[in-house]
Amino acid sequence: MKIKILHLYPDLLNLYGDKGNIECLRKRLVWRGIDAEVVSYTCENSGFDLSDVDIVFIGGGSDREQKIVCHKLLEHKAALREYVENDGVLVAVCGGYQLLGKYYKLEDETIEGLEILDIYTDQGKKRLIGNIVLESDFLNQKIVGFENHGGRTYIGGHKPLGRVVCGYGNDDNSGAEGVVYKNVVATYLHGPLFPKNPQLCDYVLTNALKRRYSDFVCLPPLEDDLENTANEYIVKRFTNK
Ligand code: GLN
Repeated sequence: MKIKILHLYPDLLNLYGDKGNIECLRKRLVWRGIDAEVVSYTCENSGFDLSDVDIVFIGGGSDREQKIVCHKLLEHKAALREYVENDGVLVAVCGGYQLLGKYYKLEDETIEGLEILDIYTDQGKKRLIGNIVLESDFLNQKIVGFENHGGRTYIGGHKPLGRVVCGYGNDDNSGAEGVVYKNVVATYLHGPLFPKNPQLCDYVLTNALKRRYSDFVCLPPLEDDLENTANEYIVKRFTNK
């Protein structure tokens, strides 16, 4: 078995080392004897073929970098939308998450999005920065992470990734964080999202494997004692639970 991971624009969107999530996806496959191929698509590349891709990852970036990426991504709008509608696995973090929506409205201009999700983002006055803990209804482990965004994302009828137990979330008001749509996981949680949340990483890998191999059933467990202890420590530290 083999999974191909496409990292979109790591040259521009790689805030807080979002790239480490790619390494985590890769390692958790290799540890199970599944081959993993990681390919980067940067501003230097041309052509855009998702036909043999199993997981697409888009990281976060500053508003300046997002503006540049936005124009590049819009060239691939139809291909990315088709990929998602065909159950392609897509993980988008922070700036990448905002770009999946209709737009990201800044004070003096509006960045157009891919309209893969029926969401939009408005820039707020204060940045929403800090540790965050979520409860999701499809994992039995809380999702922990760090958020830093000026945008407030309004997700309408979409299902959130989780409910905020501690932190700001999508819009500092609704108690929702991120979006799960088909095989898309979109979130404001930066940096080591997958290393800190092994169950979420395996959820993404399982969706990719099920899509690629119709007879795939489930991933064998890994020894996640350290990862789980780190996750539980953060949950306790920020929620007293
Ligand atoms: N530039 C966006 C914002 O501030 C996203 C930032 C990020 O990716 N951390 O909302």
